[in-house]
Amino acid sequence: MSGIITVGPEGQFIVPESPIIPIIVGDGIGPDIWRATRPILDGAAAKSGHGPIEWLEVAAGQKAMDETGEYLPQTTLDALRKYRVSLKGPLGTPVGGGIRSLNVAIRKELDLYACIRPVKYIPGTPSPVRQPEKINMVIFRENTEDVYAGLEWPAGSPEADELISFVSQKFGACIRPGSSVGLKPMSEFGSKRLIRMAMKWALDKKLPNLTLVHKGNIMKFTEGFFRAWGYELAADEFGPQTVPESEADAGDKRLIIKDRIADNMFMQTLLRPDEYSVLAMPNLNGDYLSDALAAQIGGLGMAPGANVGDGLAVFEATHGTAPKYAGCDMVNPCSLILSGAFMLEFMGWNDAAKLVYQAVAKTIASKIVTYDLARQMDGVAPVATSAFGAAVVERL
Ligand code: NAP
Repeated sequence: MSGIITVGPEGQFIVPESPIIPIIVGDGIGPDIWRATRPILDGAAAKSGHGPIEWLEVAAGQKAMDETGEYLPQTTLDALRKYRVSLKGPLGTPVGGGIRSLNVAIRKELDLYACIRPVKYIPGTPSPVRQPEKINMVIFRENTEDVYAGLEWPAGSPEADELISFVSQKFGACIRPGSSVGLKPMSEFGSKRLIRMAMKWALDKKLPNLTLVHKGNIMKFTEGFFRAWGYELAADEFGPQTVPESEADAGDKRLIIKDRIADNMFMQTLLRPDEYSVLAMPNLNGDYLSDALAAQIGGLGMAPGANVGDGLAVFEATHGTAPKYAGCDMVNPCSLILSGAFMLEFMGWNDAAKLVYQAVAKTIASKIVTYDLARQMDGVAPVATSAFGAAVVERL
């Protein structure tokens, strides 16, 4: 019998054998990649003795607008909240309209404060770097604060002029008149809850290190405090299990807490990626670094992601709606497939997740790939989205 995922006292998901999972198919290429993904997730669940998953389609984006007159109906938000774990395809950003971005609106409404992106190389995938197999990291990006808070005003607006005159008079700040201005709020609460989730993850998975990525040398009281709050949290809440890098001995078995300035971190991910396992960072750093790392393992078409809060998670393809390919049965469905596998892992169905990862790897190793990867490989003809999906199902 199908049931609802609930949350246990430790915040862990309690999953019935046949969970109801909402799916937002999404706009543009959403239907193409979902058609390929669904049989893979259903097949992996069945083969590992779980499920069946009862998929509950909920509307958002253009489809919702056509059906209900709203891009993000309240019934959809209610379902994401009620069923706790969901999967989502890409959503276009409405042009005009009052919503800045549907993705941001979902994250805000459900307080999904962590964007988690595992970045792991699948052998055989074309990569612009020489040793992509050295990349195996999980990024935790703060999702609600920083310059993404939406607190900015255009040059010449009364708000911008008033803010400029306020900080000039009150704090002696020197801002060129007529500037656009924005605020960068970063709180102890928001930073620590993100870093806490990343630390728990690293400890649960017995990973060797966690790095706080910041630009605290310049932005001392926002990014610098993110770093300081990270070390403070490690000492206060995970004292015996963690050690700052500066105090660690060679071979220390505790979780080593490092910090790196963001520009250096970009270099580290190219030159010494195997020295990093979990990265925790503020919103903007995370935005840049997660796509840069995705590029090293084959691009956005290969990158899974999740937006996670307390007892709520929405797993999503990290790319957009790629409108020019909509309905062409052409694009790479791996981002949604791997996000689905990541979801199975979160649900504790590790055996099912492993089947998906292995089958995708076997398919790519057989040089069965969609156009985006084929064009980077010598003498490989691309297959359709549906053919790629069928090849993965065969290899489960
Ligand atoms: P995009 O949809 O990600 O597409 C940009 C390019 O990336 C595509 O033209 C294609 O490159 C490549 N690409 C994306 N997905 C692919 C896949 N599955 N397989 C192979 N290649 C893929 O970005 P965009 O054109 O900037 O944005 C379009 C719409 O999506 C906008 O409305 C944007 O707001 C929205 N968006 C949504 C999300 C989300 O829902 N999470 C994220 C980003 C953007 P080539 O043309 O080189 O083949």
